[in-house]
Amino acid sequence: MYARMRTIRIEGKEVELIEEFPVRFACMEHVEEELDDYVNEFEAAPNTYRASSIEMDQVDKRCRVCGEPGQIALLREKGM
Ligand SMILES: [Zn+2]
Repeated sequence: MYARMRTIRIEGKEVELIEEFPVRFACMEHVEEELDDYVNEFEAAPNTYRASSIEMDQVDKRCRVCGEPGQIALLREKGM
């Protein structure tokens, strides 16, 4: 649902994150809502990936809104 980290692996590639921005997950139903929330809260549009492409151990990938398994990851990459 919520995580803060510096780098994550996305489809085998190491991706550097902007630390101030959390990684969040949303189901398909709530992805629009979460995109809006992210923009409102952090004043920046997140990069989005399929949740299944995010290789993180012990991370809660459930939707932040409803708790269903998240389909989309929202995060901010460095240099984007
Ligand atoms: Zn949801």
